[in-house]
Amino acid sequence: MVNQTISNYSHQDVLIVGGGPAGLATALMLAKRGWKNITVLEKRPTADYYEPDKAFNYSIDGRGQKFTDFLQITDKLSEIAVPSTEFYLTLIKADGRCYSLLSP
Ligand SMILES: Cc1cc2nc3c(=O)[nH]c(=O)nc-3n(C[C@H](O)[C@H](O)[C@H](O)COP(=O)(O)OP(=O)(O)OC[C@H]3O[C@@H](n4cnc5c(N)ncnc54)[C@H](O)[C@@H]3O)c2cc1C
Repeated sequence: MVNQTISNYSHQDVLIVGGGPAGLATALMLAKRGWKNITVLEKRPTADYYEPDKAFNYSIDGRGQKFTDFLQITDKLSEIAVPSTEFYLTLIKADGRCYSLLSP
């Protein structure tokens, strides 16, 4: 039923507003499922400008890696990324109490 619905619509044009992770993931998922004419509109002029006075790292957690596995790009990403098989988040409260969680 779902596949029949997809094939009914996959010839139609798609416009996605916003080229963040959600927009790009949607575009990639649709392309993988047969949509041909997908346009992503992004208001930022380039992908590389993001607060250049700060340093960022971007962590793709276990759920995110299921998605990169689905897209078959995990190996490509691991060539340019630092692996972290066990990643802990630590929350330090104002009163000094501290909690650590294993990231999913
Ligand atoms: C400092 C920081 C660190 C983070 N680190 C991580 C991390 O390590 N791992 C992780 O998983 N998540 C992290 N996050 C969270 C993650 O960035 C967000 O969950 C994610 O970006 C949300 O994706 P999104 O596509 O929904 O929205 P956004 O990333 O906000 O993307 C929306 C896009 O739409 C564009 N847009 C908006 N309005 C318009 C318009 N009218 N026309 C055209 N384009 C438009 C914006 O320019 C933007 O590019 C972090 C967030 C921050 C702020």
